[in-house]
Amino acid sequence: MRSHHNLWTALITVMVMVLCFLLGGCVQQSRESAESAGTIGIAMPSKTIERWSRDGEYLKKSFEAHGYDVELRYSDDDINHQINDIQVLIADDVDLLIIVAIDGSALFRTLEDAEFKNIPVIAYDRLIMNTDAVDCYVSFDNYRVGALQAQFIEERLGLEDSRDSFNIELVSGDPADNNAIYYYNGARDVLQPYLDSGKLKIPSRKLEFLQTCTPGWSTDEAYENMQNILASYYSDKTRLDAVLCASDALSLGVIPALYSDYAGDNIPVVTGQDGDIATLQAIVDGRQTMTIYKNVNNEADIAVEVADAMLKGKPLDASLTGELSAECVFDDTSYDNGTKVVPSYLLIPEVITLENLDSLAATGLYKWDERHRYLVAN
Ligand code: BGC
Repeated sequence: MRSHHNLWTALITVMVMVLCFLLGGCVQQSRESAESAGTIGIAMPSKTIERWSRDGEYLKKSFEAHGYDVELRYSDDDINHQINDIQVLIADDVDLLIIVAIDGSALFRTLEDAEFKNIPVIAYDRLIMNTDAVDCYVSFDNYRVGALQAQFIEERLGLEDSRDSFNIELVSGDPADNNAIYYYNGARDVLQPYLDSGKLKIPSRKLEFLQTCTPGWSTDEAYENMQNILASYYSDKTRLDAVLCASDALSLGVIPALYSDYAGDNIPVVTGQDGDIATLQAIVDGRQTMTIYKNVNNEADIAVEVADAMLKGKPLDASLTGELSAECVFDDTSYDNGTKVVPSYLLIPEVITLENLDSLAATGLYKWDERHRYLVAN
């Protein structure tokens, strides 16, 4: 009797152990399926320029949809603040860093810590200079942005066929942002033959990049600079025909400076970049002539997909472009950051004018407001 009892006890104990083992496995499995794919640290410059708010939010959502946790930080356009943010993300042991540098040349020391901890880094939109800690660059074709802006001016003024000469002023971006020189070079290469032939003149003589740049892409500074240029070189009724503004933040400052002298059909051709809501309204009202639209959702999607590929150990090369959800080009020659040529995935920018504004509504990111006059964010 006693030996029977012992046998039963032993049998039940084994069954309980097997059950626990199986149950434990299930719990473990369901915990694993709810487990995060990793944590992504995102360092954005600021919320003052519309696009960075859009980029940050969309990157966050998109990484989360891929199963990642996200730590998103904005740095008030203050470089020390951004260095501190990145240090915190590194200390938090994020699995990958996405950085839009405020000053591309100020991060190399901070990124030594990321390299030490084997945290991969994607330079997002703006290249990070003088470090081999940056693994990849995701951006738009920056040279092409500037070239498209200048080609637009070339066509609008009819420079190729015209016998007249025209006056232009150049308003470039932040010298701390490596993109700004690419925009400038793209535009300058298109404009140079007309500057050489005299068909284009710059009354202020501000031609070189450093004479035309605007620290911090500041709208206020762009306004003040344009006011000064108009007061100093145009007060004798010299006509300004075009302003090559590198971005919408800059045109937003330049346009009000033009108000006192120009109105209606008389307004100079003004370029921009980003498709900020205020700019799309200015295009409808005829205050700005064009912008370069960069679909930042596509840019964010590519960054997420490239990050995911990197974390899964896939090589960064041209073959990856076939797996990406938006059209882009792999470039492993153009973006030398002073330490290495950074493999880059570059998306394709588009020209937006009054005539094709509706194509933005077709992206689903914008919609016409109830009076069907302006585009607003969807
Ligand atoms: C971006 C532009 C933006 C500018 C100002 C550049 O690095 O490429 O899209 O307009 O910064 O924020």
